[in-house]
Amino acid sequence: MKESKKVLMSDPSILTIIAMPSQEPFIDLVNFDPDIVVDQSLANRSQYFSFVRLSVAKKLSLAKNFLPKDIRFFIKEGYRSLDIQEIAFKRSLQRVKENSPYQDLDYLIAEASKYVAPPNVAPHPTGGAVDLTLIDSDGIELDLGTPFDAIPHETDNATFFDATNISIEAIQNRQILAHALQSVGFVNYYTEWWHWSYGDKYWAVMNDVDEALYNHVTDEDLLDLLQEA
Ligand SMILES: [Zn+2]
Repeated sequence: MKESKKVLMSDPSILTIIAMPSQEPFIDLVNFDPDIVVDQSLANRSQYFSFVRLSVAKKLSLAKNFLPKDIRFFIKEGYRSLDIQEIAFKRSLQRVKENSPYQDLDYLIAEASKYVAPPNVAPHPTGGAVDLTLIDSDGIELDLGTPFDAIPHETDNATFFDATNISIEAIQNRQILAHALQSVGFVNYYTEWWHWSYGDKYWAVMNDVDEALYNHVTDEDLLDLLQEA
């Protein structure tokens, strides 16, 4: 993977990024491209979980050309509503607090943001972020070192993209994932190997630009921006 900055979602630099409302349509990744498979077992997480911005879907279609033969993307989560983001962040903050009761709020927020982004900068509600892994031709998930969505501190930070406390095979599989996604302009969040984004505030910071392509949208906005596959 390309060497990139290590910036947490709680970093003040992300708050300085402007995100004007974008009218770019959303599209359902289910049935968008046969080489992009959606994990339907996560459908109960949130409505529209398999939706992303049209450019993100197109980029995933391009990125698949950089994968070895017989390996496909397996989508875990795209769009997430702000309500769900807020609940998830509060839960993450609470968990950190229980583990570190004497730390100040800045520390707690930074730690919590290794797992769930603070709502005001969150990538998933913009439709620019996608959590994904890789499957083989039988639909079996490849070994990427930890389960998708594992909690960083519970894995001794093996969820961090460049962790070394995982198998050689898992390291190689992460490189395969990164090579494909970076080739088309996605950036990874370094504490979660499965989290990639394009056009959100985090992407802007990683690309040294001061404006994001996508703002966050509500479920109602998303309905207005739907595009048939
Ligand atoms: Zn994510």
